[in-house]
Amino acid sequence: MHVIAYGAHASDQPLEPIRITRRAPGADDVQIAIDYCGICHSDLHQVRSEWEGTRFPCVPGHEIVGRVTAVGEHVKGFKAGDLVGVGCIVDSCKHCADCDAGLENYCNGMIGTYNFATPDEPGWTLGGYSQQIVVHARYVLRVRHPQAQLAAVAPLLCAGITTYSPLRHWGAGPGKKVGVVGIGGLGHMGIKLAHAMGAHVVAFTTSESKREAALALGADEVVVSRDANAMAAHRLSFDFILNTVAAPHELDAFLVLLKRDGTLGLVGAPATAHPSPNVFNLIMKRRAIAGSMIGGIAETQEMLDFCAEHGIVADIELIRADQINESYERMLKGDVKYRFVIDNATLA
Ligand code: NAP
Ligand code: ZN
Repeated sequence: MHVIAYGAHASDQPLEPIRITRRAPGADDVQIAIDYCGICHSDLHQVRSEWEGTRFPCVPGHEIVGRVTAVGEHVKGFKAGDLVGVGCIVDSCKHCADCDAGLENYCNGMIGTYNFATPDEPGWTLGGYSQQIVVHARYVLRVRHPQAQLAAVAPLLCAGITTYSPLRHWGAGPGKKVGVVGIGGLGHMGIKLAHAMGAHVVAFTTSESKREAALALGADEVVVSRDANAMAAHRLSFDFILNTVAAPHELDAFLVLLKRDGTLGLVGAPATAHPSPNVFNLIMKRRAIAGSMIGGIAETQEMLDFCAEHGIVADIELIRADQINESYERMLKGDVKYRFVIDNATLA
């Protein structure tokens, strides 16, 4: 089936309308009419070939929400009309230790929602900046938020799970002091989620203009990270700091804020390396630097249900498809509060 999408033909070209082909739903597949798709900074990294190996044409988008239009004969639990989501994963090997543990995100055979090899045309996956997608039912999430919130649910499928998973893994909760660095799409969800989990939340931003907003999102304190004195006041006090920044920067400034055995969890994925941290900042207090990638399907459903229960959605700016290129430029300037979401009805 031909559908309209928005994609780029080369790394130095803007995104533009293109026609793509979606497979007919197989026995285990769910066919979804996409209502909204969030714009993740990863989309920009990928479409501009900032990471190696982008295949063109490239159709990004892995914060997908919509309605089921058809299901294959083996599919149980989804039917036409259901509100559903698709995040960063559309397939995996389904039989390794990671898949068995519900950690499909760490499966060596994980197939991402765009730019991963697939037997479907054109040979790699094409994402959610499109009218429709067909996905194996294992990787389809149920949306329990009210339909009116659907656009603001979209960013939970990547920004939500990418912050929820490390916050849970490193024990964010009552009695814990948690930092969130970089108040963009991921960071603003990190603040909301850590707050809802009961942690004491400190937001770190380079933008003085985000101070009030970060408090409104649920931060207990805000630190402008360029202010050395404000940073020093928090030395040796954090259990966990989640770093979402999309550009290389000094990690030592945050490492020294951790207590003994504290962890700096990196989720931001800049194209070039951070300057090497000072090893003494790790040795002296048995501190750790770790990474985390999105989350598994079961945990993504848990996160969506947690958000529905706590009334959590993303703060979004809804855009038309013809504003995607402009929104990328604004995202690079940090001019987004806090996630752009495409109204996919404007693709047609
Ligand atoms: P975003 O909306 O652009 O937010 C990034 C934030 O980082 C900015 O708002 C800004 O916050 C801060 N920042 C400080 N200096 C910066 C600089 N020089 N350039 C860019 N940002 C700077 O991006 P996002 O969608 O949240 O994604 C953040 C990063 O996470 C990206 O690298 C993305 O690829 C990655 N990511 C990783 C995973 C994973 O699984 N690990 C999943 C999704 C995305 P302040 O103004 O508050 O300083
Ligand atoms: Zn993403």
